[in-house]
Amino acid sequence: MQIQTAVIHALHDFEHRAVVPPVHLASTFALDPETEGGEYAYQRSSNPTRAQLETVLATLEGSAHAFAFASGMAATAAALSILREGEEILLPASVYGGTYRFVGRVLPARGVTGRYVDHLDELTDEDFTPATRAVFVETPANPTLRITDLRRVVELAHRHGARVIVDNTFMTPVLQKPLDLGADVVVQSATKYLAGHSDLLAGVVTTSDDELAEAYRLCQQAEGGVLAPQDSFRLIQSLKTLPLRLERQQANARAIVSHLREQEGIATVRFPGSHSAHEARLHASQASGPGAVLSFELAEGLDRVAFLRALRYPAFAVSLGGVESLICRPSTMTHEAMTPQARAAAGISDELLRLSVGIEDLEDLLGDLDQALAAARLR
Ligand SMILES: *Cc1c(COP(=O)(O)O)cnc(C)c1O
Repeated sequence: MQIQTAVIHALHDFEHRAVVPPVHLASTFALDPETEGGEYAYQRSSNPTRAQLETVLATLEGSAHAFAFASGMAATAAALSILREGEEILLPASVYGGTYRFVGRVLPARGVTGRYVDHLDELTDEDFTPATRAVFVETPANPTLRITDLRRVVELAHRHGARVIVDNTFMTPVLQKPLDLGADVVVQSATKYLAGHSDLLAGVVTTSDDELAEAYRLCQQAEGGVLAPQDSFRLIQSLKTLPLRLERQQANARAIVSHLREQEGIATVRFPGSHSAHEARLHASQASGPGAVLSFELAEGLDRVAFLRALRYPAFAVSLGGVESLICRPSTMTHEAMTPQARAAAGISDELLRLSVGIEDLEDLLGDLDQALAAARLR
């Protein structure tokens, strides 16, 4: 079964020969009085609708297990729950802002240390200590879109007895499957591409490791940050168009990158693989496409505020992956928690803008960017 077929047909055999799965809202389920057991008991532990979503997610990922959480951060927190007192995790300096906050403000109280590495692709044996139990990877990095060699990080980490956790939000399993490359755990903010319509918050953890799966099941049951049945159902429905949406978003993004590169008003354009021929080859060896997020800087003398004001379609907003294009300024919006030095080291300038490309008609997006560039020049 190919991916577009899988997201539509991963579930089957519904009552009444319905072609869409039912939504089970029950918080509790009647048990057999004699055995006091049943397939489901209480919604937090498990419920049929969330279980169906988790089946689709595991099918998509090709994983043995999938767990749906109430947000991407709840999923990341669950993924990192495997770290114990005295242990350490390595992360890229440009890691997602919410993860940066969690690692800096929640993990220390548990005695867990987060250590930042400027670029994970330069990771060496010397970066590991006996306390290093995990490496957290985002490739492409946000918003620099630099690429990390997943196979290499897995090889290094496993040699030192550390797990590899990949935040695959920017790629989704449609474009990149870290578990197939040896990673132990994948986390995703389903709020972005998986849900795809900027209308729900959700997160996913996938793994094929049974021991880790037990820890993640415990997070659902003991901490309770699970995805509700209605949102689980809506995510099942959204996933049916994920490959289709991504194909269109990616085609739009590719065309916008080519177009922006030809404009005098644009100083730099970054896209997965744009940093070097090496990174382009690397990305092509581990992912089947560049995705649909790009970043760029306006040339000197252009008025950024005038440019953003003049844009008609992309809203000036955080988040990404929706059918509508969005644009943001990472230095003040998504990566504001980093120190200016850390941002500089990660290559996040104050002028950098990140564009998440939607499924609008390409001509409209190109025309909009052109007229906004013209408006930015007038100032
Ligand atoms: C948005 C995002 C998250 C957090 O997800 P929420 O659903 O907002 O909690 C984590 N990682 C990345 C890369 C993201 O873009």
